[in-house]
Amino acid sequence: MADGSDQAVMDRRSFLRRTALGLGVSGSLLGGPGTSAEAPAVAGSVIRRQGRLGRTGISLSDISFGSSRLRTGQEHLVHHALDKGINYFDTADSYTGGESETVIGRALKGRRDAVTIVSKTKVWPGDSRDEIMRALEGSLRRLQTDHVDVYFNHAVNEVERLENPEWYEFVELARRQGKLRFTGFSGHAGRLVNVIDHAVENDLVDVLLVSYNFGQDPAFYESLTRSFDRIATQNGLPAALSRARQKDIGVVAMKTLMGARLNDMRPYETGEATFAQAAFRWTLSNPDVSALIVSMTSESQIDEYVGASGDNRVSATDLDLLMRYAKLNGTAYCRQACNDCEGACPYGVPIADVLRTRMYATDYQDVDFARREYAALTVNAVACLTCSGEPCRNACSHGLDVAAWCAPTHRMLA
Ligand code: SF4
Ligand code: SF4
Repeated sequence: MADGSDQAVMDRRSFLRRTALGLGVSGSLLGGPGTSAEAPAVAGSVIRRQGRLGRTGISLSDISFGSSRLRTGQEHLVHHALDKGINYFDTADSYTGGESETVIGRALKGRRDAVTIVSKTKVWPGDSRDEIMRALEGSLRRLQTDHVDVYFNHAVNEVERLENPEWYEFVELARRQGKLRFTGFSGHAGRLVNVIDHAVENDLVDVLLVSYNFGQDPAFYESLTRSFDRIATQNGLPAALSRARQKDIGVVAMKTLMGARLNDMRPYETGEATFAQAAFRWTLSNPDVSALIVSMTSESQIDEYVGASGDNRVSATDLDLLMRYAKLNGTAYCRQACNDCEGACPYGVPIADVLRTRMYATDYQDVDFARREYAALTVNAVACLTCSGEPCRNACSHGLDVAAWCAPTHRMLA
């Protein structure tokens, strides 16, 4: 964090106004890298702010625990997060083949009343009430608890997945039995805005877990990248989140690091802030966001992440780092939720979903998880192996060479 003076710290509105006007906010904007290859020292950091999860009334740490990569033997990460003041733990039945839930259950035994635990399962249009109940009961067994605070329909990208009447029968029964308190859906793909709007208009959820980062807010990203002529496309996500908040639906953000290429950024982090902290502050500066979750894979990473807690103002140093990251990764990052490429492939390849699985493998360095997610796609990118690439050549409004990425993704993950 910068020095906290009025000059160094700006609220979201003045930040956007200044960048939109092309005003510099830091003398070193896009200057050369600093000399530090280490993250700033943040060992003493603790959670300093709680968000309110909309109508649920749940109070949760603004930086919370994502566990998509949590493995057996990593209970110490959960304990370290607890020690830092994190009180919201997000998992899913599919994460690390169930190990994530098992580790969280073991690590939080005896602490259940002090924390919020949420989990997810993928519910499809044809699933029955009893099948969904069995999925929840499996999660409860692994988590060693009698209830989850929020249960999500996982990775929803089609309105149809919110229209299964069996889900609502399941929710009513599970709630009566005390097995869940609130419900939501998670989403990160092309039709996210449509699905959010459908859920909000029909009052179907208490909580949303959505992909949201500085690369997905056109008002911000366009101003950030104007200097190198790349224009983000309006995708409606910020407005959809605002409509959710008007209905008092809690919003938790994920994928806040826009691909998480953290190592690329270390040379530019000079001690005041890390790229991750800057990206978190940007996400939390949106009053429509209750909190964020992020995968935590080491104790030092937890220290670094928690160092961004409590301050949702974006500093000049933060802007410097976000702009640097955008410049390094602008055409190497699929925003997924923009989905401008939808329909471009005559073979029905879901380009955004394919590139999301690629991100798990190449940016998050989690090939196992990427393979599982790739295997779960209803259509994969096998057609790319024999395609000329002509139909999708100009499909990406952000300049990604779709064909050059999809075929290697299939080879890597199929
Ligand atoms: S390379 Fe061909 S098959 Fe692959 S996404 Fe593009 S158009 Fe579709
Ligand atoms: S490939 Fe391009 S157009 Fe398609 S979702 Fe990703 S960023 Fe958007």
